[in-house]
Amino acid sequence: MKIVQSAFAPGAKTLKGALHVHTTRSDGADSPESVLRLYASKGYDFVALTDHNVYNTKNFAPDTNLLIIPGVERDFDMPDSKNSLVHTFHTVALGRSPERGNRYVHDQRFSFKGTVADQRAVQPLLDEIHGAGNVTFLCHPEWSGTPAREFDQMQGHFGMEIWNSGCALDNDQDTNAAYWDEILGLGKGWHGIAVDDGHTMRQHALGWVAVNADKTIDAVIDALVSGAFYSSCGPEIYGFYVDDGKAVVECSPCLFAGFAFARKPSSLTWDRENAGVTRAEFAIPEGLPYLRAIVKDAQGRRAWTNPIRL
Ligand SMILES: [Zn+2]
Ligand SMILES: [Zn+2]
Repeated sequence: MKIVQSAFAPGAKTLKGALHVHTTRSDGADSPESVLRLYASKGYDFVALTDHNVYNTKNFAPDTNLLIIPGVERDFDMPDSKNSLVHTFHTVALGRSPERGNRYVHDQRFSFKGTVADQRAVQPLLDEIHGAGNVTFLCHPEWSGTPAREFDQMQGHFGMEIWNSGCALDNDQDTNAAYWDEILGLGKGWHGIAVDDGHTMRQHALGWVAVNADKTIDAVIDALVSGAFYSSCGPEIYGFYVDDGKAVVECSPCLFAGFAFARKPSSLTWDRENAGVTRAEFAIPEGLPYLRAIVKDAQGRRAWTNPIRL
């Protein structure tokens, strides 16, 4: 039986979106209008302005035709964060429409000033967000100083960041799905999300999601939650499926294309001379719980699919 990853269903759309963005509404350097204009100029279809602890639903550049996904970033620090360590659970919340239960409103402020002892103490805060008609993903786990064992009991996230442009450019962290295979290997259905988390113009529009959805808030959220998207810093992925005991990925010309797993070396098809790989195949061994496709282009830019469970 053929299993096609849902981002690549027949007739799939590929809306380009930014899900983690900062502006002068919190600690970003540039105005919401100028940031949105930059994203529009780079061909984005939707943007979530996720400034720290202040909710956004507004399009500050309405003539751009960008869809604004409601959103906010919440910061839940652990006690040792107060002693100059970075040890935190930053969480992006994205909102459905009010008709689908979003109870947060534009400019709503979130005043959680305390600390959380560990991941268990975050759960009631996540439950509250989910109860208010919002979905969540975990941000930049490497930058946050949290290996998988510090967040692997959390419930209700639809995904986690696997690329974060700000952390990548400034810290060389959160560049390639750190800890994701550990989470997937536990059977958790978290999807992998590339974001910018840009605070300055040079950090915006470098990592995005390509979503198979119509251009409405609820359609985009539903597709994100169901995993009908892939993440990219440049390469395009056109297909990822399993058929007759083998996996196939199809992509724009790349240095390599192939597959990643839990507890197993990746399987890659290379073209080191011409970076012209546009397809890779893999014979699936018995007992593999899932696989996901990965590619990297001649400029070193990656793209990642969500997994197919076997
Ligand atoms: Zn953050
Ligand atoms: Zn951020």
